[in-house]
Amino acid sequence: MKIFVINAGSSSLKYQLIDMETEKVMAKGLCERIGIEGSKLTHKNPGKGTETEIEKPMKNHTDAIKMVLDALTDSDYGVISSLSEISAVGHRVVHGGETFSKSTLISGEVKKAIEDCSEFAPLHNPANLIGINAIEQAMGKDIPQVAVFDTAFHQTMPKEAFMYGLPYEYYEKDKIRRYGFHGTSHRFVSGEAAKFLGKPIEELNIITVHLGNGSSVAAVKGGKCIDTSMGFTPLAGMLMGTRCGCIDPAIIPVLMNKYNLSADEISDIMNKKSGVAGISGVSSDFRDLDKAAAEGNERARLALDMFMYQTKAYIASYAAALGGVDAIVFTAGVGENSPEVREGAVKGMEFMGIKMDTEKNKIRGTVDISAADSKTKILVIPTNEELMIAKDTAELVK
Ligand code: ADP
Repeated sequence: MKIFVINAGSSSLKYQLIDMETEKVMAKGLCERIGIEGSKLTHKNPGKGTETEIEKPMKNHTDAIKMVLDALTDSDYGVISSLSEISAVGHRVVHGGETFSKSTLISGEVKKAIEDCSEFAPLHNPANLIGINAIEQAMGKDIPQVAVFDTAFHQTMPKEAFMYGLPYEYYEKDKIRRYGFHGTSHRFVSGEAAKFLGKPIEELNIITVHLGNGSSVAAVKGGKCIDTSMGFTPLAGMLMGTRCGCIDPAIIPVLMNKYNLSADEISDIMNKKSGVAGISGVSSDFRDLDKAAAEGNERARLALDMFMYQTKAYIASYAAALGGVDAIVFTAGVGENSPEVREGAVKGMEFMGIKMDTEKNKIRGTVDISAADSKTKILVIPTNEELMIAKDTAELVK
């Protein structure tokens, strides 16, 4: 069975074609600048080791998807001879609100519900819907499509974890609450951790630490999420590449009044000009920060220290929420690649039974980086949201 996975953004579209028998990626790529001048498709064929760049105008997502489908069936760099080889299409959908607690086969009703959730993710859900409609147009209405939500895994949080201390009617009327994001990644790596430990996930308390451009931590008890650091939007939690994370909410009206900022302007500052980029003044990329800090840049050092400190604070608080922790799992760009951040995020936690082997931590790709006498396993597990989406899709169309 071959599953086509799509992650549609407002002006970009990422895709993978996955062979479910081998779980291998047959083709993958990215459409950039959709609807803007200079549209480009980069298509990779890992089997042949080729990368093809096609620069051609893409007016909209339908154009982009048509180009991708042409690339998949191209006699030169394609990987299938006909679109009929694709059994189903899985879509990453950012927000499923309180409606979706698992992945779902897409119907007219489901599309309407995804649209209803757009108010929570105004940049993402509409793009995801366009992706779904574009597939219908290009491949016909009969191709099964599945929506896999970033928020779904976190729907098991208890009310005391997901409510905010605002007047209750804002929850009732406006559904203002913590939703959490990166759910597909937290679910994938917690499952992989259980496999690695050789224990049923139902018996494990796991803290998953997804550190990338966006970062979040989740507390997973018996395979179910009981708390997570992102909130009503992906702005909450620890500071991130360019996002401020949780701050005293009273700072917002103070800055708005003092600098005469609109809601959009303050939102832009908190989302795009803050985080480790805003603190360091150097970059949102952790490789640049590492380099600058090593060269003595104090603000880059501070940004890294804040990032590690805030990550540690989440790990400690979730250890308490879980009542003990069997494994901490680091994943995503920074979590998989930065030994320094991993070390800083668990430093000084030996009193809690969390002890890293700092030598193992330096070896790239090592899975278990805990010291032999650590009560808690510390693991590094690469995330694979596309594979998780493909697996859910395959399961639902079986
Ligand atoms: P996204 O949230 O966009 O999916 P990723 O999970 O790809 O992000 O993570 C991107 C981040 O990973 C970037 O900030 C980048 O600096 C960081 N990263 C990648 N490689 C390394 C590395 N070798 N050392 C430190 N950070 C790294």
